[in-house]
Amino acid sequence: MPTYRAPVRDTLFVLNDVLGYGNHDNLPGFADASPDVVEAILAEGAKLAENIMQPLNRVGDMEGCVRNDDGSVTTPKGFDDAYRQYCEGGWLGLATPAEFGGQGLPYTVHSAVSEYLVSANMALMMYPGLTQGAVAAILAHGSDEQKKKWLPKMVEGTWTGTMNLTEPHCGTDLGLLTTKAAPDGKGGYRISGQKIFISAGEHDLSENIIHLVLARIEGAPVGVKGISLFVVPKVMVDDEGKLGERNAVSCGAIEEKMGIHGNATCVMNYDEATGYLLGEENGGLKAMFTMMNEARLGVGLQGHAMGEAAYQAAVDYARERLQGRALSGPKAPDKKADPIIVHPDIRRNLMTIRAFNEGGRALILWTALKSDIAHLSDDAKEKEAASDHLALMTPVIKGVLTDKGFDHAVMAQQVFGGHGYVEEHGMSQFVRDARIAMIYEGANGIQALDLVGRKLPQNGGRAVQAFFKEVGEFCEAHRSDEAMAPLTKALKKGLNDLQAASLWLMQNAMQKPDNAGAASYDYMHLMGLVALGLMWGRMVKTAQDRLAEGGDADKAFLEAKIMTGRYFMERVMPGTAAHLARISSGSDTMMAMPEDAF
Ligand SMILES: Cc1cc2nc3c(=O)[nH]c(=O)nc-3n(C[C@H](O)[C@H](O)[C@H](O)COP(=O)(O)OP(=O)(O)OC[C@H]3O[C@@H](n4cnc5c(N)ncnc54)[C@H](O)[C@@H]3O)c2cc1C
Repeated sequence: MPTYRAPVRDTLFVLNDVLGYGNHDNLPGFADASPDVVEAILAEGAKLAENIMQPLNRVGDMEGCVRNDDGSVTTPKGFDDAYRQYCEGGWLGLATPAEFGGQGLPYTVHSAVSEYLVSANMALMMYPGLTQGAVAAILAHGSDEQKKKWLPKMVEGTWTGTMNLTEPHCGTDLGLLTTKAAPDGKGGYRISGQKIFISAGEHDLSENIIHLVLARIEGAPVGVKGISLFVVPKVMVDDEGKLGERNAVSCGAIEEKMGIHGNATCVMNYDEATGYLLGEENGGLKAMFTMMNEARLGVGLQGHAMGEAAYQAAVDYARERLQGRALSGPKAPDKKADPIIVHPDIRRNLMTIRAFNEGGRALILWTALKSDIAHLSDDAKEKEAASDHLALMTPVIKGVLTDKGFDHAVMAQQVFGGHGYVEEHGMSQFVRDARIAMIYEGANGIQALDLVGRKLPQNGGRAVQAFFKEVGEFCEAHRSDEAMAPLTKALKKGLNDLQAASLWLMQNAMQKPDNAGAASYDYMHLMGLVALGLMWGRMVKTAQDRLAEGGDADKAFLEAKIMTGRYFMERVMPGTAAHLARISSGSDTMMAMPEDAF
């Protein structure tokens, strides 16, 4: 069975050495989370992930959740105790304002720890993950009274949250949703309809479940303009915060699914359940987007976390499994065969995953830091630039890191040969768990459309232009540094491809929208490679500087960083040219085939 070691050393390198986390102590919450405090938090989070969450990963996969005859749902053995320890440690509210019982620490720190916990047990971590999303939506759109009523118990984890968008006939196209909300004459609404695929919709980990539900108020405009968001508790709560009767919401079934068996995916029936409007009437989609944007970054992190967990298992196996001899001559002559880690093709798998994992970690933490700046800075210009970055990178992180997380779980499985295909080694679980991240929170094709259709043109292309400038300036600044030149050359080539693709879109997408649709997926991955390339450029430069300063204690770590960066630039970055070629081929061939010829 796989074991897991939280990559604390690497997180600290990214935060402190590459991103200069310590320079942001002017932001609220950062002073309380100084680099040494962060180090202690990461060490504690690592223990929780390795010792409490990870041992239950396999249990959750094998047992799954069970819906009982009375509609209650039982989670796998041990989940309740692990969840209790997580809540008692204050992890759920790490980045929530102290006013509501949280610790008010930076989102960056929350992201760093979340990686460990999700790598260790993705299905279990979805229960608090959904709660954090619901908390974010109530914080942003709730009245003072609503915040006071719902948040403290959610932040301590006594009540969990969900997000109810999907219905049988509508997932991506929420304009089609039919769940109804009728005023009850007492300031609330009666919610009726069916939601499907609701993660953590019913379970036994918390006293109450606070469902955030999209529904249409009677007489509302058709389409997305007529959707409102409601708070619908599983158990009614009185004005003193005491639990009362069951609300008319129930779990009709749980889905039999490919992975994340430990998380209950529920059909939820609302039969005139009492609900309370959150935010403005007909402003539901906007309010839900607060939750979804945060959730999209969280799902990107899931993809990344699965890649990391699968990589660690594959490395362990490749060191032990003896098969064949190295092409350059035996490396373990005393043994009957060499460990498979000597073979270039095994190295190709391991190095590729590693290069994405370390680059992905940097991209996630860089963007989390921008999120903190966007929310906390009082410098208007800095805030605007950080918000631009966040908006641009959210679909890239969601789409690219989840696609790669799945690809890399498969690559890591390949390292095990047939032993990866059978359940015994746990590699199949990584593949099955990683797959969903490409689908929910907006399938990845929709992330690509969001990037090309909304994020690129926003504010006259301000965000993407700033990104081009940042990458270009990095290449220029280190062009004459001999050690950096091969990296900056590859990165510059990637940037040129991205700029050419952007120009092609400007010239060809307006008059023919199918060109934008046909280009979007490649464009998202092309931008992902350039963003990861920038992260690698910075990490290698930092590692070189540290080595030059005589960072002997970390020599092996820093040298490995440089080697992995070179691998990324030589072996992964050239993929930008293929993306550009596909983008500029347009949509004609793709769309030419008549439907009945398929
Ligand atoms: C395990 C699991 C957990 C989930 N958890 C939740 C949850 O907690 N809450 C919740 O509300 N939902 C949840 N979902 C639902 C999930 O978000 C949806 O499945 C997802 O958004 C896709 O919707 P759909 O399945 O209806 O697919 P569809 O919308 O039917 O899409 C099918 C395919 O068509 C593509 N497509 C659709 N429209 C377009 C377009 N305009 N242009 C290009 N391509 C398009 C999509 O990308 C997709 O590949 C969950 C789903 C699963 C499987």
